[in-house]
Amino acid sequence: MDLRCEGCAGCCVDWRPLDPAAAGSDRTGPRPPLDDVYDLAPLTRDEVAGFVDDGLAAALTPRLFEPVEGDDSVRVDGVDLAAVDGRPVFVVGLRKPPKPVAPVGTDEPRWLDACVFLDPTTLQCRIHGDERYPRTCATYPGHNLELGAETECERVEAAGGGDRLLDDDPPEDLPAPAFGPQALGATVFAYPEPDALDGVVARLRDGAATADDRARFAGAAAGSRPGSLSVDRDRMADARERARETDSWVGTAIREWTERAAGDGDSVALDADALDRLVRDVEDDRGAPGTPGWD
Ligand code: SF4
Ligand code: SF4
Repeated sequence: MDLRCEGCAGCCVDWRPLDPAAAGSDRTGPRPPLDDVYDLAPLTRDEVAGFVDDGLAAALTPRLFEPVEGDDSVRVDGVDLAAVDGRPVFVVGLRKPPKPVAPVGTDEPRWLDACVFLDPTTLQCRIHGDERYPRTCATYPGHNLELGAETECERVEAAGGGDRLLDDDPPEDLPAPAFGPQALGATVFAYPEPDALDGVVARLRDGAATADDRARFAGAAAGSRPGSLSVDRDRMADARERARETDSWVGTAIREWTERAAGDGDSVALDADALDRLVRDVEDDRGAPGTPGWD
C-alpha cells in the first residue's frame, strides 16, 4: 500500500459539500448509523480509555445504529436501535467540528466538518504516530483493499483530487477488522442500561448530544470487556466521571470553531496569513500538538 496524502485529508474531512456524488464512505459497517458524521473512525476500547485518561474525552462521540433484517433491536425515544441481548450496540469515534480547510486537492479554504485532530493549515494529523494515533487511521485503507472495497483515496481521485492510491497491495500486518463477532467489547460495544438512554438517543439522532451524553458512552466503552457483553461497572463509572469532569484544548477548539463557522461548504473569507493566525489561536496556542508540514 502506498498513498499520497499531501493536500488530501479525504478520510478526515466531510467533503460531501464539495462533491456529494463522490463521497459516501463509511468505516463503521453495513448498518445505517443514527448520526450523520462522515467516515467515523471507530476506536478500540483501549484507545477510548486512553483518550479519557489523557483528559481528551471531548474528542469522542458515540454512534448508534438502525437494525437491519435479522438484528435484535430495542426501542428508545421512539427509535429502533440495533442491539445485542436487548442492549443497544455502539461504536466510539472522533468528533468532526466545522473547520476552515482546503482538502482533496482544492485551493480555497471552506468550512467543512473535519476531524478534531486535523491541523487545518497543513492537513496533517496532530496525533500521527503518537500513542493516541488510532489503529483504524494507521491502517486505512488496508481493510478496504483486502476486501476489494472502494477506498476514500479512489473517491478523491475520481473527484479530480489527484493521484492518491499509488500501490493497492494490502499490508500483510493488518489487525482484525473493526466489525464482526470478534469485535464485541473491543471496537463494537453494547450499552448496558438502555433505560437510561431516554432523551439521549433523540439528541444523538438530532446532532444535539451533550458532553454528558458523550461521557456516558465513553464510560461504557472503557468499561467493556473484549469478547464479551459484560461491562465492568466500576471502570465504567470512573471513566464516565473523568470524561465529564475534564476539558482540554479539544473541547475549547470545538466550541470556538462551531461558533465561528459559516454554512457547510461556505468559503472562508480570510487570506492565508490570517487563516494561519486563526488556527494558531484556536488550536496550537491552546495546547494542540504541532504538525511538521510536508517535505
Ligand atoms: S485521528 Fe488523524 S488520521 Fe484519524 S481521522 Fe483524525 S486527523 Fe485523520
Ligand atoms: S483519502 Fe487516502 S490519500 Fe487521502 S488522506 Fe486519506 S489515506 Fe491519504
